Amino acid sequence: MRHKGGCHCGALEIEFESDVEPAAMEVRACACTFCRKHQSRAVSDPDGAVRLTVRDDTVVQRYRFGLSTADYYLCGRCGVYVSAVIEEAGRHYAIVIINALEEAERFSRTPMPVTYDAEDEAARRARRRAKWTPTEIILA
Ligand SMILES: [Zn+2]
Repeated sequence: MRHKGGCHCGALEIEFESDVEPAAMEVRACACTFCRKHQSRAVSDPDGAVRLTVRDDTVVQRYRFGLSTADYYLCGRCGVYVSAVIEEAGRHYAIVIINALEEAERFSRTPMPVTYDAEDEAARRARRRAKWTPTEIILA
């Protein structure tokens, strides 16, 4: 299945491919200070694929905080938070923010609250590498 989405103004597009039924996919509500402010809910599939297309690089923001291990992709024009991406050994892995998808309501599982504050950088990278979705970033 292919799920399309992106920010509101079109500067940032995302496509999430997964064989897992959206209604069966684990939904995570991260409790970190950034995700809490967005009330974001995220999905990922290590066996799936994400294509993140930057259509207007002059407005897309790659925000970093804390351990600075991930880029939080936000649109600086319309304000939508779309995805978080890490780079490991030259490859990218991402989570998809459900609200940025066109059919967000299909991801209907009750969000699982998660807290990762206790992780050090190595643990954080290892978890993301195992659980996040292989990702291609396209500068269009
Ligand atoms: Zn936008």
